[in-house]
Amino acid sequence: MATPPENARAFELLRDEALACTACRLSEGRTQVVFGMGDPAAELMFVGEGPGAEEDRQGLPFVGRSGKLLDRLMAEEMGLTRESAYIANVVKCRPPDNRDPKPDEIAACRPWLERQVELIAPRVVVTLGNFSSRLLLGTDVGITKLRGRAYRYGDTVLVPTLHPAAVLRGGGTAMANMRADLVRAKTVLQGGVVDLTDAGMVAR
Ligand code: URA
Repeated sequence: MATPPENARAFELLRDEALACTACRLSEGRTQVVFGMGDPAAELMFVGEGPGAEEDRQGLPFVGRSGKLLDRLMAEEMGLTRESAYIANVVKCRPPDNRDPKPDEIAACRPWLERQVELIAPRVVVTLGNFSSRLLLGTDVGITKLRGRAYRYGDTVLVPTLHPAAVLRGGGTAMANMRADLVRAKTVLQGGVVDLTDAGMVAR
C-alpha cells in the first residue's frame, strides 16, 4: 500500500524532530537516537523495547543478536526482509546499562511511536515483548498471556509476540511460539481470516 507523498514528507519531518528530542533523561546518555528503519510505507511494522549498545552505536534498531534472530524468523516464517517492513522501538534512546525503560521515559517517547504508526499505517503491527505489547494494547497483562492471538488496534491488526532476546534465552518452546505468532501475522497480511480479541478480555 503506497504512502501518499505528503505522508513521506511528514515522516521525514517527524524523524528530524525526533533526532533532536530531549524530552527525557535518556537523551543525556545516548550516542544517537534510534528512530527506526525500513520502509515507511510498509504493511508490516515491528515494535521492540529500546535500543541496546550496538543499536545506540549504529543508530539502527535490532542490529545485535536479537536482530539477527528477528531477521531469520521473519525470513523463514514470513518470507520477508527487514527492508520490506518497518522496525521501531518504544523508546528511541538507549536506557543506561540496558535497564528497562521507566514509565516516564515511555510516556515521553510515546508520541513518536504513535505518530510513526499513524503515518506508516501498516496493516499489521507485531509487538515484540512486554513493553510494546502492553503499551499499545493499553493493558498490564503480560506477554505470555497476550501472545497467541490477534487484536484490533485502530485500523491495524496487532499481533503480540515474545521479544527475540527472550526467545534466545528461552529456547525451543519460546522459539516455536514466536514462529507461530509470525505465521499469524503473515496470515493477516495475506488477507486470511483471524479472530480478533479485545485486550480488555484477556485475564491476567
Ligand atoms: N532490543 C530491542 O527491543 N530493540 C532493539 O532495537 C534492540 C534490542
